[in-house]
Amino acid sequence: MAKCAECDAVIEIPDNAMAGEILTCVECGSSFELAKAGDSFELKPAQSVGEDWGQ
Ligand SMILES: [Zn+2]
Repeated sequence: MAKCAECDAVIEIPDNAMAGEILTCVECGSSFELAKAGDSFELKPAQSVGEDWGQ
């Protein structure tokens, strides 16, 4: 499991998850890309299509 960087909600990573997969936080809807980090995974912010991040 990992935590959403946006709202701290727990995001479950499926056992059969693969690096590069996109997971979406059910709480805030943020998308994260699964990246392999040693024996486990970490979540990287994913570029979401058509959304303005207000930079
Ligand atoms: Zn979230």
